Amino acid sequence: MPVNLIMLGPPGAGKGTQAERFARIRGIPKISTGDILREAVTNGTELGRIAKATMDAGRLVGDDVMVGIVRERLLRPDTMAGFVLDGFPRTVAQAEALDAMMNGRGPLVVLDFAVPPEELERRLAQRRVCGKCGWTTAADGETVCAKCGGAIGLRSDDAIDVVRKRLQVYERDTRPLFEYYKSRGALQIIDGNRSPEEVSAAVDVAIGTSRKPGTDMRSQLR
Ligand code: AMP
Repeated sequence: MPVNLIMLGPPGAGKGTQAERFARIRGIPKISTGDILREAVTNGTELGRIAKATMDAGRLVGDDVMVGIVRERLLRPDTMAGFVLDGFPRTVAQAEALDAMMNGRGPLVVLDFAVPPEELERRLAQRRVCGKCGWTTAADGETVCAKCGGAIGLRSDDAIDVVRKRLQVYERDTRPLFEYYKSRGALQIIDGNRSPEEVSAAVDVAIGTSRKPGTDMRSQLR
């Protein structure tokens, strides 16, 4: 049975980290709409030109554009065994469009990572990303990416004023998805205010993936 997983949760809640790990372990694709947009910006494509100013302002790119990106990606055969969506849907219109795409593909499982706003702001202020490969790390003086040797810096939308705007937009546009998925029993809330390893273990329990006793979750997160 394919696992079609959606990672909900505000910016800084750990969706990307958990999505990446889960997708790797399951051998299914992780589809991060933020990564797709950032890549388009880096490559200077038309999509990138459309999206850049919106992203830098902490607002949402239009539903039609986003639905088009995800629809195209879900047509690729590697998604038939399941997928992890990170950062999509973010509006009820996107969720409705996704439901229409899911026809015959099995149910959606939705995880929300609950983290208090002060902790989100703290994490995002510390977050550094590689401008070349997108590797994400907490700031501890690193300037060179451990994965690809690219330069590490602050994400342009992780400046504090943009972070606050993104959190507001999340509450206004994405929070209604909780009710949307909860009312059909698809939503599970996970306490995201703990270590990545503990959150990963909770994800596995929520999805019903049993873990061998003694497995070192840290090695799975790398
Ligand atoms: P993320 O990396 O998921 O935090 O996304 C970074 C930025 O990309 C967001 O602040 C939005 O501007 C844009 N974005 C990513 N996914 C979506 C989406 N599903 N709908 C609208 N905008 C999006």
